[in-house]
Amino acid sequence: MKILVLNAGSSSQKSCLYQLPETGLPEHPPSSLWSATIDWTVADGCGVLKVKAAGQKLEIKLESEDRLEAIKLMLDTLVTGETQVLKELAEIDIVGHRVVHGGSEYSQAVLITTPVKEAIASLIPLAPTHNPAHLEGIKAIEQILGDIPQVAVFDTAFHTNIPPKAAVYPIPYHWYEQGIRRYGFHGISHKYCAARVAQLLGKPLESLKIITCHLGNGASLAAISGGVGINTTMGFTPLEGLMMGTRSGSIDPAILIYLMREWGFDAEQLNRLLNQESGFKGVSGVSADLRAVLSAVEEGNPRAILAFEMYIHRLKTNIGAMLASLGGLDALVFTAGIGENAAIVREKACEGWDFLGLKLDLEQNNQRPEDMDISTPDSKVRILVIHTEEDWAIAQEAWYVSHQ
Ligand code: ADP
Repeated sequence: MKILVLNAGSSSQKSCLYQLPETGLPEHPPSSLWSATIDWTVADGCGVLKVKAAGQKLEIKLESEDRLEAIKLMLDTLVTGETQVLKELAEIDIVGHRVVHGGSEYSQAVLITTPVKEAIASLIPLAPTHNPAHLEGIKAIEQILGDIPQVAVFDTAFHTNIPPKAAVYPIPYHWYEQGIRRYGFHGISHKYCAARVAQLLGKPLESLKIITCHLGNGASLAAISGGVGINTTMGFTPLEGLMMGTRSGSIDPAILIYLMREWGFDAEQLNRLLNQESGFKGVSGVSADLRAVLSAVEEGNPRAILAFEMYIHRLKTNIGAMLASLGGLDALVFTAGIGENAAIVREKACEGWDFLGLKLDLEQNNQRPEDMDISTPDSKVRILVIHTEEDWAIAQEAWYVSHQ
């Protein structure tokens, strides 16, 4: 069967097509037949569509900001020109969408129906940049492909089993009843990595205590016991927890009250400062990208050095918090842009845990590991680098829904 995956962000639209057997899923992530990205950040009022398929690469400049037209053009490259991999779009059997916010209601991927669309719309105030983009994508598919089954795979779903003691904020209880609670994000990646670790270690997932460190531009940790997420660092929004590329992570909430009272900041300004002007960018003054920050560290830039030390300090503090939730640890996992590529982050994050018997093999850590155990043979805790495959995880969920 052919599964189209749509992964919409605030300023991008990624998509890929998988061909999967009807009878069972392959053990290892297969390559997609076709993949495409629309990037809306390149220039004002237009975007760029990049497509890879059939050994060809295509790049088209989009002259308007019309998202529906852009998705139409993107899907056209499946059936026309050098990147053609299908005779007609009707060959697509099912479409899987990444949906950032599914609230506390959706603990699994679901077939998209009118009530599901209404639920995604009702959660727009909690995910103002993402949920509208997901709804746009769903609507575009309805218009282009008609009555095809579509599946929503929620980034929050994996965290719905987090117990109330970790999910409820210590604020007036009726706020919780109004939906102000910890939801957690990056669930598709955390869930995929935990399953992949069990596969690589050859042990049942049910027997493992795992901490997954999803370290990309956005970053979060998850504590996973027996395959169930029991704690995570992101909360009501993806702003809580770790220091990130441009996001502050957790700070004393009284700082906001102070800034409002004394400096006259309003909600929009605070939102921008904490989400777009903080983290690596805000502290180092160099960049949100760790690669640039690390170059500045090499040159001895004091603020870049401080930013990197803060990042590691906060990462380790939060690993400690996940450890406390789990009460033990079998595997520490690094994934996403920083987790997969920055050996120095893995090295620093693994320092000082000797009392746990956690030992990193420094040589293996420096050899661009992928889906690999990089702990020493005598380490009591396995340390792994996993290449996260969110699109493949979405395709798998869509496959399962279609076989229910
Ligand atoms: P997103 O959260 O946007 O999906 P990614 O998971 O792609 O982000 O991670 C992007 C980040 O990964 C970049 O901003 C950069 O900081 C970091 N990164 C990517 N490659 C490297 C590298 N070789 N060394 C250090 N950091 C890297």
